[in-house]
Amino acid sequence: MESEVVQEVEALLGREAVAELDFEALEMALRHGTLRLAARAMEQRLNADTSNEVASQVPCRCGGKAHFAGRRSKQFQSVLGPLRLERAYYHCSSCGDGCFPRDKHLGIENTSLSPALTRMTGTVGAMVSFQEGSELLQELAGIDVATKQVERTAEAILALLTARIRPLFWLFLAAFNPVGIVDLILDYYHAIKVGLPALAGQLGATYAIPILYVPLLMITHVVAFYLLLRPQPKAVRALAAAAAAS
Ligand SMILES: [Zn+2]
Repeated sequence: MESEVVQEVEALLGREAVAELDFEALEMALRHGTLRLAARAMEQRLNADTSNEVASQVPCRCGGKAHFAGRRSKQFQSVLGPLRLERAYYHCSSCGDGCFPRDKHLGIENTSLSPALTRMTGTVGAMVSFQEGSELLQELAGIDVATKQVERTAEAILALLTARIRPLFWLFLAAFNPVGIVDLILDYYHAIKVGLPALAGQLGATYAIPILYVPLLMITHVVAFYLLLRPQPKAVRALAAAAAAS
């Protein structure tokens, strides 16, 4: 790969004298080029390894057995750029579900971001808005991660942390439910005090906020309280314990 990188540099530099170089354009082009070379080398290495096909069957989540059913490819984003991975697929005829043991092993199960890119995305998602996070990843790392994806990744990381760290769970619970419901009740109080019901006709498009959105929020809070306070079925308790332990 080293010689390929040298060739790439030579091709970009051409015969131009150093004094005529656009250094910024050159360094950006070289970073992009070398990352693509590395991505291709990694793709070849991972796809050539077929050790995940050795087993003719693997255990399925349902307790049954999933049988080897060929290879499938998956495209995902990484810090090296897009990667296409081919891996063994196992299908379970009892539940109809399928699984990719290699995805689990590499940490790319049910996601289109590599582990390193997931970490980067989580970091920007926690520091700036999701839109700015997406722009920063493009600007600084040259990687396309859609705004929606930054949002989903940041939320998934937060949910995982919340499930694993008990005090964080209670903090978010308190922030969402008791604080949220008290805030809503105060909003109702203020709205009535300033005579909002009489002025409702003048609200225009914002009419939907007090008439639809706020009642829906209130219903969500009440449902959340109900779900939290009702006795939990055994299966839910077992799942929660497993999530905390993993
Ligand atoms: Zn199954």
